[in-house]
Amino acid sequence: MSTPNLLMIPGPIGLTSDVLRALSEPQRGHLDPVFMQSYGRALKRLREVFVAPAAQPFIVSGSGTLAMEMSVANLIQPGDKALVVNTGYFSDRIATMLELHGAQVTQVKAEPGDVASLDEVERALSSTAFKVMTITHVDTSTAVLAPVRELAALARKHGALVVVDGVCSVGGEALEMDAWGVDVAFTASQKALGAPPGLAVLLASPRALETWKARTKPVASMYLDFAQWLPIQQAYEAGTPSYFATPAVNLIMALEVSLGELVAETMPVRVARHQRLARAARAAWSALGLASLTKRPEVTAHTLSALKYPAGVDASLVKHVGAQGVNIAGGLHPALKTTYFRVGHMGAASGGTLLETVGALERGLTAAGHRFEAGVGVAALERALVAR
Ligand SMILES: *Cc1c(COP(=O)(O)O)cnc(C)c1O
Repeated sequence: MSTPNLLMIPGPIGLTSDVLRALSEPQRGHLDPVFMQSYGRALKRLREVFVAPAAQPFIVSGSGTLAMEMSVANLIQPGDKALVVNTGYFSDRIATMLELHGAQVTQVKAEPGDVASLDEVERALSSTAFKVMTITHVDTSTAVLAPVRELAALARKHGALVVVDGVCSVGGEALEMDAWGVDVAFTASQKALGAPPGLAVLLASPRALETWKARTKPVASMYLDFAQWLPIQQAYEAGTPSYFATPAVNLIMALEVSLGELVAETMPVRVARHQRLARAARAAWSALGLASLTKRPEVTAHTLSALKYPAGVDASLVKHVGAQGVNIAGGLHPALKTTYFRVGHMGAASGGTLLETVGALERGLTAAGHRFEAGVGVAALERALVAR
């Protein structure tokens, strides 16, 4: 059996040994008391991770895209107006979904690598009464970080519900769902939460649930409807399991362990660790002559980096780095994807995994024909890690 490469793509990410161990537990039934307690604890821990004591968590089999569609399907009725603060590929995805569910969509777009100004967003909010405004917290296609707190405050001021795609942020970037007035935030198990792929995670504020309850038309999907899932989440949390659709027993038990690791680290400490690692990574990128795809440091994520290929280097770099034992990802933004690559640094990422990554990147860059003094990236990274 071969050892897989170090996984430094923006999800799925490497798993801790405790999470792996939870996956190898014997299969339990969905009504098993041990599973029931695990599910209940996972739901409670989600409120801590999202800093959302008042919210209702949902854990549903599926990926982040399912969580995205759950938010849209439950909040939107045909004819509703929605504003998308578009920062790239995943904002395009939610805009398409909103339209599929009958919304009239307005978008405030920035050029790739940037976020529209707060003034521009407020102008759009003032022009029409939107029911919902969506924000992609970290657009994984470009590593753009949106100012959720400020944007959410604007949306609240204008009476719009705030939906946050936190798939590449929750567990790595600061997000305080209740305090910031976010109504729905969602993610997936395989990104900064540090569990395997397969679970959609969504938290809904009391206001979001009231909006859903006040619908005049049914949700046009049985699997996505809060009505099916709400009693199940409440039952598992109360210790009285119940059935709608078979839960992914082993994945939920693994998620419960990874959420336990997040809660034990505490969210402020975890966010600060991601910021420290991102700063150190940036020191390495600049020492190697690699430019960020994002336009400004304030709009640059801490969970991944998107870096332009240097002159003379193409997408074969990803393969060269893979041959050195580390998996990184190519570009994803449709207009730019052949011009840049991405390195994930979330979850259990550490000084050690970053050193391994920058070392492999140096050897891969050399194989791809980029010229620099060997070791400058590793040295810059190490200096930044030592300086903290
Ligand atoms: C990965 C991702 C998604 C989609 O999640 P899947 O689990 O791949 O369906 C949506 N939004 C963002 C920001 C993502 O990073």
